[in-house]
Amino acid sequence: MFLLLHYLIHSLQPILVPFCFLIAWTLVFGSLWIIGLTTREGIVALKRLHQIPCANCQFFTGDYRLKCPVQPLSALTEEAIHCSDYTPQDKDSKCLSAN
Ligand code: SF4
Repeated sequence: MFLLLHYLIHSLQPILVPFCFLIAWTLVFGSLWIIGLTTREGIVALKRLHQIPCANCQFFTGDYRLKCPVQPLSALTEEAIHCSDYTPQDKDSKCLSAN
């Protein structure tokens, strides 16, 4: 049994070595390609999420129970990116309230 297996492995070795070489490098480059794709998709998603204006909006409460009384369903979501009710915070009033 082992003699047959030994003979089979030795006879297939000239084919197995380049085949395994190709498989190994395909796995390495495939993994690098997937990591690159995932990173690029993550960067695109992050750029899109940074377009959400709610944190700088006057109507944003910062309370998780009611984030925004004007648009409660779309606050802090991608729907808020082009929110028609967006009003920038008045920085002067923010400073006054802190004092
Ligand atoms: S009004 Fe629009 S931009 Fe402002 S906090 Fe509400 S959802 Fe966000």
